[in-house]
Amino acid sequence: MNPSLYIHIPFCQSKCFYCSFSSFEKKDDLIGPYLDALDKEASGYKGQSVSTVYIGGGTPTYLSVLDIRTLFEIIRSNFVIEDGAEITMEANPATFDAQKAKTIFDSGANRMSLGVQSLNDKYLEFLGRPHTRTQALSSFEALRDAGFKNINLDLIYSLPGQTRKEIEEDVFGLASFGSEHISLYTLSICEGSQFYLRNIEPPTNVKQGDEYLFVSQSLERHGFFHYEVSNFAKQGYPCRHNINYWRGGNYIGMGVAAHSHLNGHRYWNGATIETYLDMMKEKPRAMEGQEKLTQEERFMETLLIGLRLAEGVDVSDLEQRFEVILPKEKKAVIYDLIEHGLLSQEKLRLKATLSGMVVLDEICSRLI
Ligand code: SF4
Repeated sequence: MNPSLYIHIPFCQSKCFYCSFSSFEKKDDLIGPYLDALDKEASGYKGQSVSTVYIGGGTPTYLSVLDIRTLFEIIRSNFVIEDGAEITMEANPATFDAQKAKTIFDSGANRMSLGVQSLNDKYLEFLGRPHTRTQALSSFEALRDAGFKNINLDLIYSLPGQTRKEIEEDVFGLASFGSEHISLYTLSICEGSQFYLRNIEPPTNVKQGDEYLFVSQSLERHGFFHYEVSNFAKQGYPCRHNINYWRGGNYIGMGVAAHSHLNGHRYWNGATIETYLDMMKEKPRAMEGQEKLTQEERFMETLLIGLRLAEGVDVSDLEQRFEVILPKEKKAVIYDLIEHGLLSQEKLRLKATLSGMVVLDEICSRLI
């Protein structure tokens, strides 16, 4: 199977208070050089076929209409995109309008991921999001008018002080948009974010777990299939790009901080725009580090990440794929987790139960 392609656009209008991603504000003068560097990096893969494309960030829709067209030209002139490939771009309602929606659609994207996060202006302000509920609604309408039939909406829930009724209103409001996909996020306070500097306390694990179950069940009642720990889709609309990650597939990442994985060779780019641009001046790639995974490491990583998916993993299939046998002590941990109702074995597939999904990080740390 051909690898997936991820392209990182690290520019944002402003830095959201919870954000610790590789994204930067007030760097507009670097957009032109950045696109030139992306073109150079892409030319190193000239002729490579890809099965999906995902343009994320940062805020890809912070780019102008002209720059968005240039970006798609860079992709098309260097990569061979499989027929019918899923091509996603992330959008922020604050940097989006009907003209950009049409440009992106005409450039060949067929899936959009809209960073709505909440439909309550009080929480959007708390999060430092630069948009309002009204802008989220009009962005969604602009996407539908442009022709997009596959749209994801992001939702952050379990915010400090947020009541169950407010969460319910957000879930109901978002489900009423009629999108094909919803991705869930809880608030984590990461080093480097403004919330971290302000000592904002995230809700307790118990509260987050309780609200996760509530939101998951509400979305299922609204007709979404819970196909991954944090992702819900209408029938036929799971994100093919991300499923490739969760099945341990190959992917090429381009741009600031992007990671690539090709058959156990993992490598990653410099994490600031300046580092990336400096490296790209000298070399064909901005590779800052790399590692070669052993077959045992690939086996365990694919098993653990596969537990994120509702379909789970076929352990004996993985054993054959990586020519590795699951060690006895890990089997014992798995049996214990099954007894405690956190994992289940259905035919040959090992899966996390809904209670298991709440504590998947702990399950993984027991299995490492
Ligand atoms: S728009 Fe996204 S990437 Fe940009 S600052 Fe906000 S959370 Fe971070």
